[in-house]
Amino acid sequence: MEKTSITIKGLEFPCYELDTVIVGSGAASLNCADHLVSFGHTDIAIVTEKIGGGTSNNTGSDKQTYYKLSVSGKEPDSPYDMAESLYNGGSMHGDLALIEATMSAQEFFHLAQIGVQFPHNAFGGFVGYKTDHDPRQRATSAGPWTSSQMFQRLYDEVKKKNVRIFDEYDVVALLADGERAVGLIALDKSKLDDETFGLCFFRADNIVFGVGGPGGLYKTSVYPLVQIGAIGLALEVGAVARNLTESQYGLASTKFRWNVSGTYTSRYCRAISAPTGTAATNANS
Ligand SMILES: Cc1cc2nc3c(=O)[nH]c(=O)nc-3n(C[C@H](O)[C@H](O)[C@H](O)COP(=O)(O)OP(=O)(O)OC[C@H]3O[C@@H](n4cnc5c(N)ncnc54)[C@H](O)[C@@H]3O)c2cc1C
Repeated sequence: MEKTSITIKGLEFPCYELDTVIVGSGAASLNCADHLVSFGHTDIAIVTEKIGGGTSNNTGSDKQTYYKLSVSGKEPDSPYDMAESLYNGGSMHGDLALIEATMSAQEFFHLAQIGVQFPHNAFGGFVGYKTDHDPRQRATSAGPWTSSQMFQRLYDEVKKKNVRIFDEYDVVALLADGERAVGLIALDKSKLDDETFGLCFFRADNIVFGVGGPGGLYKTSVYPLVQIGAIGLALEVGAVARNLTESQYGLASTKFRWNVSGTYTSRYCRAISAPTGTAATNANS
């Protein structure tokens, strides 16, 4: 990473130039950073509004299901079958469904290897349960603790690998050159009172946008207050949206942010509505 500067009207603003910037520090972003370093890409940095913020580490859901290929017992499963289950929900691009299904076992075992504890039986098999619209027992979790453990263990890995983290930086704009994102503008929150207002620039060949779900869209939401979301920044520079999260309506408390998961709420509690926002599939809560 190289640090240069940009001068605007006599004021000097820091500009960081590097190969890859990952925005956000939830499980998705941390996993990406962990893998990039393992694959030999070291000129990377995470720019995040808050380490420990976001949904992965904070959400309140009774299940917080991790959905993957069935890997235990005698029930057969295949990536194609799983992709069909994801696709049949009606809001998922088929190719992405197949990629998610194909990679799901690999990524699950990666999490297990770095210390995320998933429920297992006496034979070491990672047992699962059925979740919404799920024809197999692909779902697993030990409640929201699993999601928080994913954050914690991945954060440990990223620290071990010395990934540079710009913590408490709000990304406020993406910079695009034609169809390609080439950089971003952020506010360093420790410098908001300086004459530069903490404004700084990042120039990168690759930008990974892991800013979480759309909790901030809703007036009333069970998304944790620490989640602001930033999908709009990508849409603003012309990104085409695929697999935007569904909205799920169900029984939820908002003062103590907690929701009762999908099947129960959607079958029996359709009348009660507090948007809970789920991940990319409908087979996950
Ligand atoms: C109640 C509830 C129940 C759910 N149940 C399930 C379930 O059962 N199964 C399932 O798969 N999913 C479930 N989800 C969804 C799932 O939890 C999220 O999709 C997932 O945790 C998102 O992870 P992430 O890493 O993409 O984002 P997050 O963990 O939200 O991280 C986003 C990161 O981006 C940062 N950020 C945001 N804006 C900016 C910005 N402008 N600049 C810099 N950084 C920024 C945040 O600080 C944070 O670090 C549920 C969600 C909720 C709220």
